Amino acid sequence: MSALPCALTIAGLDPSGGAGITADLRGFAAAGAWGCAALAVLTVQSTAGLRSAHPVPKEQLEAQVLELFRHQNLRAIKTGALGTAEGVRTVVGLVEQKRELPLVVDPVLVATRAHDGARLLDQEGLVAMKELCARATLVTPNVTEAEALTGLQIRTVQDAMQAAKQIVELGARAAVVTGGHLEGDAVDALATRTQTFELSAPRVSGSPLHGSGCTFASLVAGRLAVAAHPIDDEGLLDAVRWAKAKVTEWIEGARYVGDGLRVLGG
Ligand code: PLP
Repeated sequence: MSALPCALTIAGLDPSGGAGITADLRGFAAAGAWGCAALAVLTVQSTAGLRSAHPVPKEQLEAQVLELFRHQNLRAIKTGALGTAEGVRTVVGLVEQKRELPLVVDPVLVATRAHDGARLLDQEGLVAMKELCARATLVTPNVTEAEALTGLQIRTVQDAMQAAKQIVELGARAAVVTGGHLEGDAVDALATRTQTFELSAPRVSGSPLHGSGCTFASLVAGRLAVAAHPIDDEGLLDAVRWAKAKVTEWIEGARYVGDGLRVLGG
């Protein structure tokens, strides 16, 4: 009896369904992978914004993931909002035990719309996040996250590529800085250890979106879960290209599900 390939997200719960774990499960399903989810941060949130974030205690975070490590047919791991430096370090320890699995790190720091400075990662978490990035098959920052990780100011695709290369120098196998927040076409800057690629899609105009970063990263991880292992650079590029096409389609289909930001249509 062969078990379905599973992708695991270790991330936050966004009760509105637009971002975090619930969005990740849709991304995994679209790729044909079974979705597993371990909760790292509970958020009080709607599409109108993030009110507060409440990290899950380390012991429970670890227990959730170790149980899945023991029994699920995991073929890829994706991380999202991890709450605190301790949460990130806990995940570093966990992924070290599954080094054979592709790891997609979405280095989530803040939400697009947040009330009263609520954050998805505390200030000390950034240093720990670099340690997690060092273990990643792919890191998927947006421009703001890439600036925080590298200290660079990103205005152009060339700047974004420089940042992607710097994240690879941290130890990651590849990094893609998503271009949704830059002007012009939505160009993602992808750097591996030996190559660079600019992945372009026409900009879809419209009001701001909630959950596009989580969705893109989970589409990549889902695709890696169902791909032939070990993942070579060609497999990684295929997954990023596929996820970019899918997320563009879902951005075109974005809609309101309340009175806040639009969510991606899938
Ligand atoms: N809430 C949670 C739990 C998340 O994991 C993420 C991921 O980025 C967000 C919110 C971010 O949402 P937004 O796309 O609105 O920045």
